[in-house]
Amino acid sequence: VSSRLPSRLVDRLRSAAGRSAVLTDPADCWAYGYDNSRRQALPDAVVLASTHEQVAAVVGLCSAAGVPLVARGRGTGTTGATVPVRGGVVLSLERMNRVLALEPRDRLARVEPGLTNQALQDAVAAHGFFWPPDPTSAAVCTVGGNLACNAAGPRAIKYGTTRDNTLGLRAVTGAGEAIRTGVATTKGVVGYDLTRLLIGSEGTLAVITEATLRLTPLPEARHTLQATYRTVGAAAAAVSAIMAQPVTPCALELMDRGAIDMIRGYQDLGLTEAVSALLMIEIDGPRHGLGQAVDAVAAAAAVDGLIGIARATDATAAADLWRARRALSPALRNVAPKKINEDVVVPVSRIPALIDGLGELAARHGITIVNFGHAGNGNIHVNLLVDPDDAAELARAERCLDETFDLVLRLGGTLSGEHGVGLVKREFVRREIDPASLRLMRDLKRVFDPNGILNPDKSLPD
Ligand SMILES: Cc1cc2nc3c(=O)[nH]c(=O)nc-3n(C[C@H](O)[C@H](O)[C@H](O)COP(=O)(O)OP(=O)(O)OC[C@H]3O[C@@H](n4cnc5c(N)ncnc54)[C@H](O)[C@@H]3O)c2cc1C
Repeated sequence: VSSRLPSRLVDRLRSAAGRSAVLTDPADCWAYGYDNSRRQALPDAVVLASTHEQVAAVVGLCSAAGVPLVARGRGTGTTGATVPVRGGVVLSLERMNRVLALEPRDRLARVEPGLTNQALQDAVAAHGFFWPPDPTSAAVCTVGGNLACNAAGPRAIKYGTTRDNTLGLRAVTGAGEAIRTGVATTKGVVGYDLTRLLIGSEGTLAVITEATLRLTPLPEARHTLQATYRTVGAAAAAVSAIMAQPVTPCALELMDRGAIDMIRGYQDLGLTEAVSALLMIEIDGPRHGLGQAVDAVAAAAAVDGLIGIARATDATAAADLWRARRALSPALRNVAPKKINEDVVVPVSRIPALIDGLGELAARHGITIVNFGHAGNGNIHVNLLVDPDDAAELARAERCLDETFDLVLRLGGTLSGEHGVGLVKREFVRREIDPASLRLMRDLKRVFDPNGILNPDKSLPD
């Protein structure tokens, strides 16, 4: 089957990456055109690169030919960021999955972008370390995807996001030029910080071919608390109180009444009717002194409106406490097989205002909204439950979502904490970023990618 690309370009891509590394049959290419946004588009070719040099050659060829190129990890992104809406080439990094160097004495690892997050964690755990970014998708997402989306998870509250745990990058700009950014040390202030610019840029500025990651020693022990509250306001007050004392938990997750009610309908977790909000709290650190640290966090969590705090000090008891949080995804699937899942962020003190505002929007638009998320960062996953076959409900959900973003911005928040913009939030970016800053960002895009081939139509609005 012939590709829509000029055959001369296909030949050159084959010379650059190897004959079997270039797919042009639509049946093969189709599998590289989706992500978890449930959007899909057909690329004209897929190149499975194995080396930095191949990436540089492929990007250079596409740049010269003006052919769109989308870098791809494992396609677990939720925003359509890796969907090749204009066709062109999908450059899969999945074969570049090696740990290039592991240097425990300097607490760093140098890896290729196609390594999965979990494979990285396994490799460094053998030396007593972990890499803090912990997306739930760890088993199936890549470090390259984590970097491009600035991915994070519950641990970000204590250990930071991908941006905070990356020292340097090797990459290929949209012009096909190879660059190295950052340092191999934990301090450095020479030149502009291109590392932090590329992280979170969703493959629109450069293709990342290598990363130097900052590692953290594994904690000796971990304790889990589950705190239940009469109101979400009380839970939010507890979050602020916990974050204002010296022991920072390594997870501080919130579930609102909607989420708890949904689980109640799915599985009996022994949560009484009085429970309107729940916090899952984890504290890690050296074994010695951990008991006092947990006491301090529990004391801070004991605000007005607390119903009770359950403690777990071993893995089995902790797994039991996490049962409610784990039941959430199957419960959601049970109630609504399709949902619109956003990951907005507000200052922690505004969480009650966000939850109240979402309740008002849900009632006005006739949409069920369920909220949970990384409360310590104010990062709330807002789930609008919709029936995809009900066009009227879908339209109401879209209006509700639109007003949700306005609400978040009014509360001093941001549209995305970890999932990014991709295709789905692109048109809302203008509401958050001022015109002069947007112009600067577009200018930066042109400097990195003069022919505009890298992931066009993503991240920045037209
Ligand atoms: C079940 C599930 C749970 C999830 N949980 C979380 C979570 O807890 N936290 C979180 O942050 N995210 C989460 N995600 C979202 C997603 O897994 C992350 O964004 C992840 O980082 C994407 O990695 P990927 O390899 O699948 O990237 P892809 O989806 O393949 O790509 C995502 C973006 O990165 C770009 N990209 C990929 N590789 C490169 C590269 N080498 N150079 C330049 N650009 C590149 C792509 O062009 C695209 O813009 C979840 C997704 C699912 C399906």
